[in-house]
Amino acid sequence: MSERVINFSAGPAHLPEEVLRTAQSEMLNWHGSGMSVMEMSHRGKHFKQIIEEAEASLRRIMSIPENYKVLFLQGGGMGQFAAVPLNLLPENGKAAYAVTGGWSQKAIQEADKYGTAAPCFPKLKSFTDIPPVADWTIDPDAEYVYICDNETVFGVEYPEVPDVGDKILVADISSNFLTRPVDVSKFGLLYAGVQKNAGPAGCTIVIVREDLLGKARTACPSVLDYKLMADNDSMPNTPPCWSIYVTGLVFAWIEREGGLAEFARRSEAKSKLLYEAIDGSAGFYACPVAERVRSRVNVPFRIQIDGTASEELEAKFVAAAEAQGMSSLKGHRSVGGIRASLYNATTLEQTQKLVDFMAAFRQEHS
Ligand code: PMP
Repeated sequence: MSERVINFSAGPAHLPEEVLRTAQSEMLNWHGSGMSVMEMSHRGKHFKQIIEEAEASLRRIMSIPENYKVLFLQGGGMGQFAAVPLNLLPENGKAAYAVTGGWSQKAIQEADKYGTAAPCFPKLKSFTDIPPVADWTIDPDAEYVYICDNETVFGVEYPEVPDVGDKILVADISSNFLTRPVDVSKFGLLYAGVQKNAGPAGCTIVIVREDLLGKARTACPSVLDYKLMADNDSMPNTPPCWSIYVTGLVFAWIEREGGLAEFARRSEAKSKLLYEAIDGSAGFYACPVAERVRSRVNVPFRIQIDGTASEELEAKFVAAAEAQGMSSLKGHRSVGGIRASLYNATTLEQTQKLVDFMAAFRQEHS
C-alpha cells in the first residue's frame, strides 16, 4: 500500500500526520542536540525540557489543579489495574467497582487480589447500559469508587461524572482521554494509556491528587508507587522517553487545534454522523448500546439479516472496507461484529467516508 489508510483501530491508533512529520523531521537531530530522542539520556537537559513541556501542556489542556501530580509511567492501563489498589487500598481494605464492560471487569479482578473489590451493582446481563448512580450500592467502607469512563470494547461511555458523594473517584480514561473537558477536581485519580488518543504505546499518564500519595503498601512494587514516582518527577528509573516525546507533540497539536472544547465538538459530530447512519439503516446495521451511554469514540455495531447478525456479511464488510483504505474495523475478538474507533486524529471527512461506504454496502447487500 503506497498511501496511508484511514485507521479505525481501537489502539494503538493513528496519530495526526502533522505530529508524525514533526517527529520525522526531528528524528536524527532533535533541536540541535545532535541525536534522536531515542538516543538521549533521560537525565540530560534535552529530555528534561521535553518532559517538562509535555506536562505543562497537559496541565493547560486539562486545567489540572495545582494539588494534582502528573505522572508519566509504564505498565499500561493494565499496570494501573494493580497500581490503584496497591496505592490506595490498605491491607484487607475495600473498594467499590462499577463494572460496565470488559476493562472494568479486568480491573475488579486485579483489585480483588489485594483486598475486597465489591461491585457497585449486580453483574449486568449485557454491557449495553450503565445503571444510574442513584441505583448503585456503594459499600460505606470502600476507600474509593472505580469507574471505566469509556469501555473500549463495548462502546459504553459515562455521559457525565457519577456523583459518588465524599468517596474518592478513580477513573480509567484510557480510551476517551482528551476527547472532552474533564473537571479533574471531581476525581482522586485519573489514568490513561496514551496509545489511543495521545501518542505511541509505552506511556501511561496518571493524574493523582497529592493527598493520596504516600499510602502505598509495603509490597507495592517501586515502579507502581505513585509517591516515589512523583518525588522523582516520574524518573526514579528510565521513563518511556520516545512515547513521552511524541505524546508531548500531540498535546501541542491539541492546543493548536483549539483544546478540549474543540475536540469534544469534533467527537460529538463524528459519532453523531456514524450513529445516525446505523440507526437510519432500517435494521441493516444495529448498535446495541443504550442511546444515553453511547460512546463518542468506540462505536460497535452488527450487520444483520432479518434481525440476526451475519458474521459472513461482517467479514465481507471488513474486507471490502480494507480494500478501500479503511483499516481495522473488525470488532474486538470477545464480541465480534464491527467497531469503528473515532479518536482525536480521525477527521469528520474520514468518518463521512466510512458512512458513505456503509450506505453503498447496505445497498449492495440488503
Ligand atoms: N482500559 C481501557 C479502557 C482500555 O481500552 C485498555 C486497552 N485497550 C486498557 C485499559 C488496557 O490498557 P493497556 O493495553 O495499556 O494495558
